Amino acid sequence: MFWSEKAFKSYSQALENILKTFDGIAKKQQQGIKELYILEVYGDLLCAWEKGGAGCNTGSATVIAGSQGEAKKAIKVRTSGHLAGREHALIPVEIGDHIIFAFAFKRKCIVEIYRVVGFDVARKAIISKKVVEVEGQAIEEVLQKLPENLVKAASAAIAKAHCYHCREPHYIAK
Ligand SMILES: [Zn+2]
Repeated sequence: MFWSEKAFKSYSQALENILKTFDGIAKKQQQGIKELYILEVYGDLLCAWEKGGAGCNTGSATVIAGSQGEAKKAIKVRTSGHLAGREHALIPVEIGDHIIFAFAFKRKCIVEIYRVVGFDVARKAIISKKVVEVEGQAIEEVLQKLPENLVKAASAAIAKAHCYHCREPHYIAK
């Protein structure tokens, strides 16, 4: 097969781009950077939903906390439509805030906490750095291994992940 010079150029350009992308991904992984595709743009505010709840045996929840682990004010709380296990409170997110994911399987649970370091609005991504990931056979075991300032928010996330057909926010400021 013979390559025209033009075809060869575009091929090598494409290859170079792919390698650059891989390089970028590798660097991000090294730095523990993760893109969370949960960004919601509401007017000129960057937000994320507190959401989730439990089914019969398993559950999951996303909870937003401030830089010190404190609950934040929601700009919108859903009260109608399908609520069970869905989006409940829309919360403005700033750099330094924490995104907490909890997964539950009966008593066993996993908590992942990320600190917000930036935003990629075009890709609806919150750029974040993992703070901690803890897995345990019991809730108390997981909470013991978390940074102290994040225990309250994390226990709210775990409770939500265990809350059967959850219909309301668990961690917002009044
Ligand atoms: Zn609930």
